[in-house]
Amino acid sequence: MNRTPAGSIRPAQIGETVTVSGWVQRRRDHGGIAFVDIRDASGLVQVVADPEAHEEVADLKMEYCISVTGVVRARPEGTENPDLPTGEIEIGADDLVVLSPADTLPFMIDDRVDIDERARLRHRYLDLRRPRMGANLRARSRATAAIRRTLDAQGFLEVETPTLINSTPEGARDMLVPSRLREGEFYALPQSPQLFKQLLMVAGVERYFQIARCYRDEDFRADRQLEFTQLDLEGSFWGRDDVLDAIEGVLVAVARELRDVDIPRPFPRLTWQESMDRFGTDKPDLRIGAEIVDLSGLFVESGFGVFKTALSGGGTIRGIDVGPVEWSRARADAFTERAKELGAKGLVWMVVEEDGSLRSPVAKFLDEGEISGIKKAFAAGPGDVILIAADRWKLAVEVLGTLRNDLLRPTGHDELSFLWVIDFPLFEEEEDGSITFSHHPFTAPASLDEMRDNPKTALSRAYDAVLNGVELGSGSVRIHDPAVQRQVFEILGIDAETAERRFGWFLEALRYGAPPHAGFAFGIDRLVMVLQRETSIREVIPFPKTQSGVDPMTGAPTWVDDAQLDELGIALNETALARRDGDEEPGQPTDD
Ligand code: ASP
Repeated sequence: MNRTPAGSIRPAQIGETVTVSGWVQRRRDHGGIAFVDIRDASGLVQVVADPEAHEEVADLKMEYCISVTGVVRARPEGTENPDLPTGEIEIGADDLVVLSPADTLPFMIDDRVDIDERARLRHRYLDLRRPRMGANLRARSRATAAIRRTLDAQGFLEVETPTLINSTPEGARDMLVPSRLREGEFYALPQSPQLFKQLLMVAGVERYFQIARCYRDEDFRADRQLEFTQLDLEGSFWGRDDVLDAIEGVLVAVARELRDVDIPRPFPRLTWQESMDRFGTDKPDLRIGAEIVDLSGLFVESGFGVFKTALSGGGTIRGIDVGPVEWSRARADAFTERAKELGAKGLVWMVVEEDGSLRSPVAKFLDEGEISGIKKAFAAGPGDVILIAADRWKLAVEVLGTLRNDLLRPTGHDELSFLWVIDFPLFEEEEDGSITFSHHPFTAPASLDEMRDNPKTALSRAYDAVLNGVELGSGSVRIHDPAVQRQVFEILGIDAETAERRFGWFLEALRYGAPPHAGFAFGIDRLVMVLQRETSIREVIPFPKTQSGVDPMTGAPTWVDDAQLDELGIALNETALARRDGDEEPGQPTDD
């Protein structure tokens, strides 16, 4: 079809005959003529048609797919639309063909209308016709193109790794796929290409990347999807700074592509310890100014029981000045409740009064020196609200960090604040006291001695990238010595036999001259989400699932025939059978 993009037509084309094809966005009848806005991927153009000359016009409804041939002409004076790139012209229809009619729509194709998300997902192909969603799709494509351009120019090799594999632990549950040819056995879908990219380093690839689909069977917390896309990258003979440099190059290129900004490099770096101390989180939003301050020194001799107990129990006293926010009794109670939900014993709050005194339920327990010490620590002025947590270090800073995010909005909210958090702990302690990896088990320790002597406090060579308080991704220098890898497994409670059974193939590869290597992966969904000013990754994933893992359009996941299960050597247990034979119709969305 010889067609002109609707949104591209300009006054320079006045007098030309063009054909535009697209969807009827709107139609108005005015003084015996019809004005039809046609939308295609490039934008909108106004067509003017005489219903007497074109009888199809009478039937045109919203979202009919049509094609119009006509002459471009200037809009009559006073009817131009300065908000539209094609607002100075219109097309006088000579020929109008309905290519495909449309049923009555489940919702309007209009960015200004608020539509229930389930309805949007149920008819995602219509939702994607909305300009905002179309822009998101295009942004995503431009982002991946910029990633490829940047890495290709640096000699990276794009390599696809398999998706039917053995487990790659990244801290989530595996999604399993049954094997028909080997009944009873399962493939795992990759939580990431981690081990394959490390094998590519052993294979001599040296610079690898992949735009990789990853699968993590997590309970749907916050804004997560069962499948998501990462830029996965790895380099040989690399240390941390080589990775940070390569990833910064990619992030800056994508920001330039989607936001037309030049992000200064290098990005700021914070150690994990510093990030936690100052912001109470490992993904701080630096656009929010208020920082956590250590007040313990002020209260060593304090007569205030809560502070005394915290300090004598090895805890700490930390505070934050959130500035002159509105602070009613109800709000104070709500935030105290919130602090408790987060695990704190309580929350001490104080408001600096006009005369410099402190209004606080605990003011009477504090002496002059303590009060002036607190005000001095924050250079606090009248109206400032100060929040104090007295607890174990991690809990105290995390509670204040969360309240900081709850209470304060970033200044310069449209700016892009990238940063690195480096020197993460190697392990984390679970509630039952056992040790688990904090990044993944293939991350190199900062020091072998530290790891052996003090695994709970040992640092790793892992790092995260953060943008505006959103964790974009993580990476690390890897272990390339099989003996060290075995030791890490051991500390993680994976005994030699299990390690051999699960990862023997990988440990063997490390024995054939594995080069030192390091890498990273960041979520493309999250990056595009922030750059597109969206607040959910579902807005930048073409066909996402709901929070409960269901696709309301296709009905996935669905029941399958018994015969199909039989072939796989699988039988449903009683619970599943009861669900299947109960109310829920096979193939129907079972989402809440
Ligand atoms: N595989 C890691 C992840 O998915 C990233 C990396 O360490 O390169 O988070």
